[in-house]
Amino acid sequence: MVKALSDTYTTFKTIFTGMGITLRHLFKKSVTVQYPYERDVLPERVRLKLHVNIDDCIGCRLCERACPVECIDIGTIKSTDDDDLGETSTGHKKKLWVDNFDIDMAKCCYCELCVHPCPTNCITMVEEYEYSTYNRNDLIFSFADMTPEQIEEANRKLEEEAEAKRRKKEEAMLARKKKEEASAAAEGEGGEKAPKADSDSTPAGSGDAAGASASGTDASGAETSGDADSDAAREARRAEREARRAARKAERETKKNSEG
Ligand code: SF4
Ligand code: SF4
Repeated sequence: MVKALSDTYTTFKTIFTGMGITLRHLFKKSVTVQYPYERDVLPERVRLKLHVNIDDCIGCRLCERACPVECIDIGTIKSTDDDDLGETSTGHKKKLWVDNFDIDMAKCCYCELCVHPCPTNCITMVEEYEYSTYNRNDLIFSFADMTPEQIEEANRKLEEEAEAKRRKKEEAMLARKKKEEASAAAEGEGGEKAPKADSDSTPAGSGDAAGASASGTDASGAETSGDADSDAAREARRAEREARRAARKAERETKKNSEG
């Protein structure tokens, strides 16, 4: 009898406890967010996706170097002397064309190390998180806005300018050489006429001239080979970039075809 009463008491107690909790929550504000019709308020400084304001990018590649997983790929082309690329909104003069700026968000670890070194604050984390996809290649975001024709034109102008500079340098060297030869010949003639004065001045003068000539030739020779090196490196970089881009494009197309 006592047990039956105790059980009845426990039954009613648990029913009223449960109902009490239900009633209490019935009049409280709901916490469930009906995504995608509703969206939660995101915390401050949330890291979701990188965005680049390419108009403000000066192509310094500091972000690319800072990235620990190498998921940023930037390509630049030097502007020529008559190109005016303008300034960024932060007042930095733009000197490089940015012909390629890809970020592979599939590799990104959201560390934000690329954001802080940017001198123009043009690479930022934005509050965008709805970019999931079935294809990893669709997570490579391209921000460069140069058309293939513009890239070709920029490269052509740069090559033409380099060629013109090379020619000018060669002409200057030739002119200097001629001038030195002429002055050496004149000194030789003067030496025959006045051997005493010549014995004091000629060796030092010709030595200096020869030294200057030698150093000039060396210096310009070094510069020429430096130019050749940088040209070769640039060509190699460009070829590598093109190959990477073509491979990515081919892969995307293959995937699209197989999905289709
Ligand atoms: S957030 Fe980190 S991992 Fe992602 S691109 Fe920037 S530096 Fe690289
Ligand atoms: S650090 Fe900024 S300005 Fe420099 S390449 Fe990266 S995004 Fe462009």
